[in-house]
Amino acid sequence: MEKILIKNCQCIVTCDDEKRQLEGYDLYIEGAKIIEIGKNLVIDGAVEIDGTGRIVYPGLVNMHHHFYQVLTRNIPEIQKFELFDWLIWLYERWRYLTPESVYASSMVAMGELVKYGCTTMVDHHYVFPKGQENLIDQQIKAAKKVGVRPHACRGSMSRGKSDGGLPPDDLVQTPQEIIRDSIRLIEHFHDQSFNSFSQVILAPCSPFSVESELLRESARVAREYGVRLHTHLAETRDEDDYCLKTLGLRPLAYMESVDWIGEDVFFAHGIHFNDEELKRLAETGTGVAHCPVSNMKLSSGIARVSEMLEMGIPVGLAVDGSASNDGSNLLAEIRTAYLLQRLKYNEKAPDASDILWLATRGGAKILGRVDIGSLEIGKCADLFMIDGEKMNYAGCLNDPAAIPGTVGINEPVELTMVGGEIIYEKGEFKNIDEKAYARQVDEFSKKMR
Ligand SMILES: [Zn+2]
Repeated sequence: MEKILIKNCQCIVTCDDEKRQLEGYDLYIEGAKIIEIGKNLVIDGAVEIDGTGRIVYPGLVNMHHHFYQVLTRNIPEIQKFELFDWLIWLYERWRYLTPESVYASSMVAMGELVKYGCTTMVDHHYVFPKGQENLIDQQIKAAKKVGVRPHACRGSMSRGKSDGGLPPDDLVQTPQEIIRDSIRLIEHFHDQSFNSFSQVILAPCSPFSVESELLRESARVAREYGVRLHTHLAETRDEDDYCLKTLGLRPLAYMESVDWIGEDVFFAHGIHFNDEELKRLAETGTGVAHCPVSNMKLSSGIARVSEMLEMGIPVGLAVDGSASNDGSNLLAEIRTAYLLQRLKYNEKAPDASDILWLATRGGAKILGRVDIGSLEIGKCADLFMIDGEKMNYAGCLNDPAAIPGTVGINEPVELTMVGGEIIYEKGEFKNIDEKAYARQVDEFSKKMR
């Protein structure tokens, strides 16, 4: 079993329950696990990493993404669109997805996340063109190659254009096909053990892209197998209007009517929840994945994160898909979330270190994972490290936990480790050729345009 000793760190930002920031400590890792955190540790046979001047953070947990959207980012025609028009334009391109383009785009999305300190990533894949049903298998294969922990959402759409939905009919599947494939993926890939490197989540795309029966059946299957449930909710005012008009209920009431509420459920966005709905989320422990950059770009609104935290609602942080971000940088998302809440809530806004907490412990909690999210003895060795001696951080080392929010970490980190394995160090990926995948994505992207 490999032994790694990170010596004499400038600071270890633990994100433990006491939010300790440890100066001058060493971190000892054996295999996938953190074995000891202390001063002046001496370990026979350990590979030593000099932590002098380095700040070590827990690996970040990204709670919502659509990796395949890397193929359609920064598109001039849709820069001024809001959600529904934006989706309708993009579906026409996404119908050309293939296993190869999903593999390459997943590689690029995960690669960028890793460069900015992310080690666990939820992806929500819901576009399955006819004949291309096994795309999530490609994502999990890609994650294995990069060395990260994917939580793959088996997304779905069953209501096409002719059924009053937004996507073209050839992008939707029948509820039977969807449930059959959901079960196949859970049985193949869902592993809930300590140090798990693949988990599955059931995730119909939104309340307006599938029928009630599929939502109900997804919830039933998810609970039978002990997997989580995820979808987009309360993202736009259009969605409120649509749900009221066609379903006769506001989005959250509708989801509750089909058994989608509770600690095993989390919603992306959650911008337009009213006071009563926030109370209901708090009472039931239902989670929210906050995606501030996407919400700003699509002019969707500002989520009430400060109030959610005050009420004890579980909140995680996410970049959202690359067509509405248009990047995969969760460190940038921490800074944006911090500033946006400051702008809206002034002195009631969360501290910058609270936002780091959302991107680590917050996400881990929603995913039901006790093995990741903080740097503590017995947890998985998922971490990233920055060089605190750089000019970027001069004069601001008095509160390293706040740096991602206040100062910003605006360049790739020095090192990212997942389960004790260094997968990115000093600008180089250990397991993949960055330029090769970037080129492939450029080619697929051009074809799709
Ligand atoms: Zn999304």
